[in-house]
Amino acid sequence: MLHEAKLKEECGVFGIYGHDLELAKLAYFGIFSLQHRGQESAGIAVSDGQDLISHKGQGLVADVFNETNMAQLSRSKDIVAVAHTRYSTAGGKGIINAQPLVARYLNGGMALAHNGNLVNAASIRRKLEQEGYFFQTDSDTECILNIVARYRHGGPEVAMQQVVERVRGAYSVAMIFDDKLIGLRDPDGIRPLCLGKLGDSWVLASESCAFTAIGAELIRDVKPGELIIIDSQGLHSKILSSKSGKGGLCIFEYIYFSRPDSTINGKSIYKTREQMGRMLAKQYPVAADIVTPVPDSGRSAAVGYAKESGIHFTEGLIKNRYVARTFITPGQEERELKVRLKLSPIPEVFRDKRVVLVDDSIVRGTTIKSLINIIKSAGAKEIHVRVSSPPYISPCYYGIDTPNEADLIAANYSTEEICQFIGADSLGYLSMEGLMEALNGKPHQFCTACFTGNYFAGRVGDDD
Ligand code: AMP
Repeated sequence: MLHEAKLKEECGVFGIYGHDLELAKLAYFGIFSLQHRGQESAGIAVSDGQDLISHKGQGLVADVFNETNMAQLSRSKDIVAVAHTRYSTAGGKGIINAQPLVARYLNGGMALAHNGNLVNAASIRRKLEQEGYFFQTDSDTECILNIVARYRHGGPEVAMQQVVERVRGAYSVAMIFDDKLIGLRDPDGIRPLCLGKLGDSWVLASESCAFTAIGAELIRDVKPGELIIIDSQGLHSKILSSKSGKGGLCIFEYIYFSRPDSTINGKSIYKTREQMGRMLAKQYPVAADIVTPVPDSGRSAAVGYAKESGIHFTEGLIKNRYVARTFITPGQEERELKVRLKLSPIPEVFRDKRVVLVDDSIVRGTTIKSLINIIKSAGAKEIHVRVSSPPYISPCYYGIDTPNEADLIAANYSTEEICQFIGADSLGYLSMEGLMEALNGKPHQFCTACFTGNYFAGRVGDDD
């Protein structure tokens, strides 16, 4: 039986180094625009190089920060800030795990914001605990903090080299290290991290949409395995580890996670999704009257499908902007009610129409099944579902809180069976070849584990 709970997103990180800037405010705007990457907790840390302070809380960025705590974080002498939005992928949800994780010591401090998931966190933690290190959270991120703390006297390059050598899995990090801003990406670059400039100041963020929000310019992506050190001397960069060549950036960033107005590795997320929709139209054409997206996730691909097929694009499902979470317990009827509260059909659009319904992915199948019911009740004659990614068959170990294989519908049923289960007239998934053509890439340049089961960076618990 497929469960109701949703797939979760991951995290957003932000960092800025500069003088005479309103760092806390810029960090706030940065994570505000990365809110889609995590809604569970948010935090900002600022430092003048010696005195580090932070504020963290549970909930949305706009709920965690207010005039009072922002005023406390707004100190004119500060030179570096990091910030984080979190959705737990490893570790519990509590405030204790909110980031940035902070460590203070005489004349300095560290604050760490991490996006990704470590696969050998349990064994690292055991070893560090045996060596006498304490852990205050149950988050895998604290392993990185403790490794850095242990080697901090050698400076950031030595400490981060130790991180790269010991830690496995996915990590994109923005960190305050005394008077420096540090950026680090895992050797395969599984999670995104980009570098920007605001006047003379350097900025790091999970996605370039955070730069747009503060008026900064995207300079480039941080390279896989690259360490970035920003301080009063400017920017210093070093590749700490070479790529395995077996994988790369999470392909789901292009499919679902990243905001359409972001650019990753020189590719516009919107344009890439539109291209996926075009490929989908080539692979699964169908005679229909309208193409309509599942808002918002299917919109860019639906535009591409409509352009390629020549079928009229129209919005047909209206999203309630104010539904963040609904407290309705599982059960098929409640499930549908929940979707209906979030997405409401325009009957005049659907009545007697043959509909192509486009979404980016099917995970458990609950959303699409409910939507088909809703659109049929609104009078649609036929519903042809088109999905702009391949069947989702394997859980993610690199930063996405995915259901177990047992709950992934495509891991357990054929496309024909899924089509029947969701009640569609036809169902087409974009093939891996089609996806690669849309991305103008090769599978080994990406992490495709959710579609292939190829866990090139290991699995959680490998070393246990
Ligand atoms: P499901 O109802 O379980 O099949 O989930 C599929 C829906 O969830 C689609 O509309 C996707 O756009 C969306 N989705 C896919 N991945 C995620 C994720 N990691 N977090 C939240 N929603 C997601």
